[in-house]
Amino acid sequence: MTASDRQQLATSLVRDNIREMAPYIPGEQPRGGKFIKLNTNENPYPPSPKAVAAIQEAASTQLTRYPDALGTAFRHRAGEVLGVDPEWILCGNGSDDILTIVTRACVGPGDLIRLPYPSYVLYRTLAELQAADCHEVHFRPDFSLPDEFAEPADNLRLAFLPNPNSPSGTVLPPERILELADRLSCPLLVDEAYADFADTNCIDLIRQNPRIMVSRTLSKSYALAGLRFGFLIAQPPMIELLRKVKDSYNCDALSLAGATAAIDDQNWLMENRSKVVATRQRVTERIRELGFEVVDSHANFVWCRRGDQPLKPLYESLKQQKILIRYMDYPGWSDGLRISIGTDEQMDACLSLLADCLSRSGTS
Ligand SMILES: *Cc1c(COP(=O)(O)O)cnc(C)c1O
Repeated sequence: MTASDRQQLATSLVRDNIREMAPYIPGEQPRGGKFIKLNTNENPYPPSPKAVAAIQEAASTQLTRYPDALGTAFRHRAGEVLGVDPEWILCGNGSDDILTIVTRACVGPGDLIRLPYPSYVLYRTLAELQAADCHEVHFRPDFSLPDEFAEPADNLRLAFLPNPNSPSGTVLPPERILELADRLSCPLLVDEAYADFADTNCIDLIRQNPRIMVSRTLSKSYALAGLRFGFLIAQPPMIELLRKVKDSYNCDALSLAGATAAIDDQNWLMENRSKVVATRQRVTERIRELGFEVVDSHANFVWCRRGDQPLKPLYESLKQQKILIRYMDYPGWSDGLRISIGTDEQMDACLSLLADCLSRSGTS
């Protein structure tokens, strides 16, 4: 068999929609080379030492047995912290796993998923895996979302709404989200990956409208992207149905132990949050001084645009000097640079390099 025969055979063995879909491409994760990494919204600080200790303890005592399939200890602790009952929580192997479980449960071939545009690119991949279609509703220039988002449509089965949004870092007020959910005929999954950096969240709305679900992750605000842990908050009948869809042991013993200790350490979270938010404020002002248009961010990154020169070369110059940020182009909307909030030292290095690049190109 030639290489191309093997390729053709594999292609003929998978479903049409898998053959045709584009793969989801996560942000670059360079191995080696001393990059300052400001491209995937990881936390620049180490996680709670209590989480690390709990993982070490679990590694020496819990690896021979299967983990708790329902993550009972985590759900009890998270429930206390968030003010919900443990039966309202479903644990996931990262919040991407949560998004996958919800999509598999609610959406089938030919169904429709609604999303805002621009937003998290993975939603589209999840739709394509199900052979479902996406209907993207564009944010207005002021990052509000038109009523069109809640309009009825044939086969509309699920709506995703990241809040704060990525790449913009903007938020819709909970009142607006409730209004949209009350008009929608399908579940509304509010993806709160960045809510710990914002001033509002939608957890209270779940009681008011059983179609609302909220997903959270420990990857960003708890500095545990490598651990892979996220969770969903929804009304118990929905949680019970979603349990049928998840892998039995979707969270391993180490991540359950680490996540439980991490969410227990709210002092760590508050301190980390205030450092990141202070740096975000300073960076926003400084980048505006450099001539970028920066919308106020409620997340741990800033979205920077400018019309007087192309942005991709800026991303490339920074990369050459070992600072990795994200260049994103949203056809029909705009392109921009998404810069994660690192430590103050990392941000100073990034800002001074940006200033250099701009002065060499004569625009600042
Ligand atoms: C990072 C991110 C996630 C994924 O989080 P994981 O828990 O690491 O899978 C989900 N949604 C949005 C909008 C994100 O930015």
